[in-house]
Amino acid sequence: MIESGSLHFESLSFTGLAPGARLVVLGAVHGNETCGTQAIRRVIGEIESARLGIDAGTVTFVPVTNPLAYARHQRMGDRNLNRNLMPTRTPVEFEDRIANWLCPLLAQHDALLDLHSFHTAGAPFVMLGPENNGGTLEPFARATEETALAQCLGVHRFVDGWLDTYAAGVARRLAAGVSAREADVHYGVGTTEFMRAQGGIALTLECGQHDDPAAPDVAYRAIHNALAHLRLSSAPVPAAVSDTEALRLYQVTDRDHAGDRFFRDWASFDRLRAGEVIGVRHDGVPVLADRDGYIVFPNPNALPGQEWFYLARRSARV
Ligand SMILES: [Zn+2]
Repeated sequence: MIESGSLHFESLSFTGLAPGARLVVLGAVHGNETCGTQAIRRVIGEIESARLGIDAGTVTFVPVTNPLAYARHQRMGDRNLNRNLMPTRTPVEFEDRIANWLCPLLAQHDALLDLHSFHTAGAPFVMLGPENNGGTLEPFARATEETALAQCLGVHRFVDGWLDTYAAGVARRLAAGVSAREADVHYGVGTTEFMRAQGGIALTLECGQHDDPAAPDVAYRAIHNALAHLRLSSAPVPAAVSDTEALRLYQVTDRDHAGDRFFRDWASFDRLRAGEVIGVRHDGVPVLADRDGYIVFPNPNALPGQEWFYLARRSARV
């Protein structure tokens, strides 16, 4: 077993001579998602050997954001770093210690590109923040800039609605008397939500299946395109992608019992027809799709009380 006391945090910054944007790029927030780590190290090599110039602004790379999870080749160390992300005076879990280092670093930047991969085969996608709004959950005023950055990364599928949907799930858990930490809306705050709360723009790029050999290239292209789009490098500004598909999460369903089972093996973005059977509860009650749409983040091994799957519908946003 890896001991957390032997680990360290690593970031590397490059600052150009001209003023400009401050971009931070994260890899391995989840320890088994290494496409971003590989892409970041490749880009650092290009900068250090003068094959890529940073002419303006600052770019900071964090190749391995969760070193404990990374050393263990697993998603989490003590817990999911991408939930309940905030500094704490009383760190208990290893991820609390990461947060106390990472959150002040994020706050020094104005744009975040967080590179992930996912469990089952599928096309890459970008997670967008909310549309501009003055609400209390996740007020935001920079959706145009954030969307423009997302559209230059080279990926065609866009998903939003994360925190709204998460908060609706929290409200349902509270109404059901659940007192676990999943019943706190702050538990839905990850790297991108923290970044937006600091005034920045932030994107999670899901680059492909964990072991897809193309995923590091998706991450690598996205870093280059972000550097060009934000004018940190002098490379030609990438065109916005066409042929886009925008989906909005609208509902999360928890696995209530260890006997709750999926009707079949679902992958993210499998299509659903209204009335289609998604799964069966332990008591035999079917779980049905309420409308035509898509299943997202299905997790057959979710612990009871945690998110089992999300539903998404088409959106006209991008
Ligand atoms: Zn991830």
